[in-house]
Amino acid sequence: MASHIVGYPRVGPKRELKFALESFWDGKSRAEDLKKVSTDLRASIWKQQAGAGIKYIPSNTFSYYDQVLDATATLGAVPPRYGWTGGEIEFDTYFSMARGNASVPAMEMTKWFDTNYHFIVPELGPDVNFTYSSHKAVEEYKEAKALGIDTIPVLIGPVSYLLLSKPAKGVDQSFSLLSLLPKVLAIYKEVVADLKAAGASWIQFDEPTLVLDLESHKLQAFTDAYTELASTLSGLNVLIETYFADIPAEAYKTITSLSSVTAYGFDLVRGTKTLDLIKGGFPSGKYLFAGVVDGRNIWANDLAASISTLQALEGIVGKDKLVVSTSNSLLHTAVDLVNENKLDDEIKSWLAFAAQKVVEVNALANALSGNKDEAFFSANAAALASRKSSPRVNNEAVQKAAAALKGSDHRRATTVSARLDAQQKKLNLPILPTTTIGSFPQTVEVRRVRREYKAKKISEEEYVTAITEEIRKVVELQEELDIDVLVHGEPERNDMVEYFGEQLSGFAFTVNGWVQSYGSRCVKPPIIYGDVSRPNAMTVFWSSKAQSLTKRPMKGMLTGPVTILNWSFVRDDQPRSETCYQIALAIKDEVEDLEKAGINVIQIDEAALREGLPLRKSEHAHYLDWSVHSFRITNVGVQDTTQIHTHMCYSHFNDIIHSIIDMDADVITIENSRSDEKLLSVFREGVKYGAGIGPGVYDIHSPRIPPTEEIYDRINKMLAVLEKNILWVNPDCGLKTRKYTEVKPALTNLVTAAKRIRNEL
Ligand code: GLN
Ligand code: ZN
Repeated sequence: MASHIVGYPRVGPKRELKFALESFWDGKSRAEDLKKVSTDLRASIWKQQAGAGIKYIPSNTFSYYDQVLDATATLGAVPPRYGWTGGEIEFDTYFSMARGNASVPAMEMTKWFDTNYHFIVPELGPDVNFTYSSHKAVEEYKEAKALGIDTIPVLIGPVSYLLLSKPAKGVDQSFSLLSLLPKVLAIYKEVVADLKAAGASWIQFDEPTLVLDLESHKLQAFTDAYTELASTLSGLNVLIETYFADIPAEAYKTITSLSSVTAYGFDLVRGTKTLDLIKGGFPSGKYLFAGVVDGRNIWANDLAASISTLQALEGIVGKDKLVVSTSNSLLHTAVDLVNENKLDDEIKSWLAFAAQKVVEVNALANALSGNKDEAFFSANAAALASRKSSPRVNNEAVQKAAAALKGSDHRRATTVSARLDAQQKKLNLPILPTTTIGSFPQTVEVRRVRREYKAKKISEEEYVTAITEEIRKVVELQEELDIDVLVHGEPERNDMVEYFGEQLSGFAFTVNGWVQSYGSRCVKPPIIYGDVSRPNAMTVFWSSKAQSLTKRPMKGMLTGPVTILNWSFVRDDQPRSETCYQIALAIKDEVEDLEKAGINVIQIDEAALREGLPLRKSEHAHYLDWSVHSFRITNVGVQDTTQIHTHMCYSHFNDIIHSIIDMDADVITIENSRSDEKLLSVFREGVKYGAGIGPGVYDIHSPRIPPTEEIYDRINKMLAVLEKNILWVNPDCGLKTRKYTEVKPALTNLVTAAKRIRNEL
């Protein structure tokens, strides 16, 4: 039985690629240095997989920035503004597309399906002159071959490439991207011919869009594409790889009928229904790449369960046609557990990062071939058993409390308009109240204080003094600026999820569990391994300290349960909803403690609620139901006079607007300024909205200082579609990545614009 890995993290076990990239971008090292680090990383990955016994080892899964951008480079689809004049695409053009340069901004970046990875969106139109302009795929293939490793080159499939593109600026937005298929296929033919000439016998096309709800003409494009490619592909084994969800029955039928394709890869972790499709019929003589090892998580595989899945599949496709694989590219998990020196052995025994998953895949393949590594399997079974019964995982009181929530509803007793009235009596805010989203600039000094406290270089007392001083400055500044509802600035927080995770039970933290988010940026998600509870109040100390420094209302600042969930590695031994309810109960306790401490405005951030939305429409309702319910649970216990805010970091919420209203927050602040038409159009179309709302009036992602006029115009645009008595004035998001030299003038202009409009109303 053979084994396969869909793709592998490129950043390196200690983020070697990140540091090499950033040093190159800063002009501190040369292109050769970056290339050397990259070549070494690729070699070590291939050797590791070969050493572990993997048969189908992928190549071209490395990238200097992003695999979709690599495909754009291969196709020579460089937008004209980058001034590229042809020839092989080099670093300057490539990184200008990725990051922009002094004169041209970067291409747009968007989330890769429902992961936290972001890809560079291709910009296409009828005039793109596709030419084969990056030979990276064949070069990587040859590079591995020179090391004695015959790899399976991976390409983004041509149809997914087009479906993930957008019409370029200036092109009619209804332009049919799929109409470019013949032109794109002409280049794919050249690439495939090149790979074949270099000796490749297999090729992998990643076509993850197949798991989406596709209209029939889009499905037809797959048939057209792989039929058109047939003669070029002949003589090769061709794998179509899908991942991240169940493949719909129609899509399954379409691709399994393709005669030029000889192998199919399916995500059998998220795609449990796909198993039924396979059982219902699989084309004879073709390969099934069974993705049983989870590429989206950090848990050790349940090897015994995987074996029984694989055995069932073996009966359908035949022993020689079944290949053990990962559910998706390991790009979306952490790299190597060996570097975790802070996790204890018990927790470590429950985990598998990319390097360990490679070993699991191979162990499964060997076991099915009759060479079961008994010691490995029994260690795995023991680890699973210890995880199941560990008192660190199980907290009966929490389980009971969370179970009691299911099936019931939790809502504040009164309507939002009654509550807003009661709150206004207490808060006495002007019309168009001004506020910010929470964080203020995280200066070098603030970071140093936190770091030294963590390293025990300064005492608790010194730490408290320093943070209090920072809060005092932030409060004074806001009073000077005449902002109405203040924040404490979050100087004590490194990260909005980590800060809470560190204080909750059931969370563990890694030192090197980095996952690429975009380019050189990585995130280190916490691991939720057990039932979640809150041993102590988490924010009351700082929020009450901040409130004591001002007469104005001070917002208590919390991260919501759905966001904590979506930005963590979540346990796989119970439904996500269950874990979310547990976090909701912990946050509920915190909300009530803040209220008791005299905090009258509490913001519960749900920055990541939307990104947890499942890929398939049929699953949306269920997700929105438990996630919105979880949010409501956090604040169902407060009085009418306590004002609950929430904040969201995305503007495209048109499709989930009713769920957002159903969260029943008193005030919602939301990113808006990067695309204000989109957000406001919901209200223009007549959606009734009675709660307070603060669509961001300027983009905090840019150092640019928004002029008063511009903010003034934005507010007026909002007033055209929203009642004046519900509108708030605030930036798009927190200010932690900005400098005070930007924040002060920007907020000055914000307050000036709000006041000017107040006078005119
Ligand atoms: N309160 C957080 C902050 O201001 C919110 C961050 C976010 O929405 N991503 O930093
Ligand atoms: Zn935000």
